[in-house]
Amino acid sequence: MRVRFWGARGNLATPGAEFVRYGGNTPCVEVLADAGDHRLILDAGTGIIPAGRALMAETPLGRGAGEILLILSHPHIDHIQGFPFFAPIYVRGNVVRVRCAATEGRSTFDVLEEELSPNYSPLYSLDELHATFDIQDWDGQPMSSGPLTVSAFPVPHGRRESSGVLVREGATCLAYVPNVEYDDEAAMTRVADAVRGASMLVHDAMHVPADVPQRRGYGHSSYEEAVHVARRAGVRHLVLFHHDPDRDDAAVDEAVAAARALAQSLGLDMVICAAAEGSTLAL
Ligand SMILES: [Zn+2]
Ligand SMILES: [Zn+2]
Repeated sequence: MRVRFWGARGNLATPGAEFVRYGGNTPCVEVLADAGDHRLILDAGTGIIPAGRALMAETPLGRGAGEILLILSHPHIDHIQGFPFFAPIYVRGNVVRVRCAATEGRSTFDVLEEELSPNYSPLYSLDELHATFDIQDWDGQPMSSGPLTVSAFPVPHGRRESSGVLVREGATCLAYVPNVEYDDEAAMTRVADAVRGASMLVHDAMHVPADVPQRRGYGHSSYEEAVHVARRAGVRHLVLFHHDPDRDDAAVDEAVAAARALAQSLGLDMVICAAAEGSTLAL
């Protein structure tokens, strides 16, 4: 399995020369199976716009003969704002499946339909688009997508829940936890149990430890918490994700160095990096 990062920034897109190495697009991760040419997409932040261009060029989606599964961790704006600009939705013949395991109050369909409504967009409605849509709330139970099996579990995210997503191919497992806030030890234990033994953990690391006391209730975690979850879960490859829009490339470098120093001080054999837009990692 391979993971291609199209957007790793949290909350809002951050253009600018000081953000180019880790990138300014909001969350979007493409998962590519080893078997066949099968892919799926996690989250529809602005990163899904360049992802869509690549899918149009590289897959049958470009000629209206493709199918793609999009999993939304939750429907906060930074995880759906790229959806109306995802090129495959404009091509007749394509099938776009969307699943979200963390809707509250509104269905996944209604959230996306509302995003296209006249208040926010000239597109008006999903009906106006040319692809065929299959958009459903999801209980997180395992489902197949080609050779991949996907499941989801709830995680605390400030005043609401988000979801973590597991993508498996054979014995390989990607754990994607882009937004999580740990209110207590029990919450961290639950997430560590859910991602136990994953080959790679992509984890919210929006904060540095000094941010945490002043940002309670914001729904995010620090690189320090990410290291502790990976340690508890026995995960040896940690990818820091959902970078703070106020943290430029140099500041993300500092967070990575501090996370590595922490892992070393704990005697952990752990590979740690920060997700960088445009990069591909093999599991
Ligand atoms: Zn987010
Ligand atoms: Zn959120």
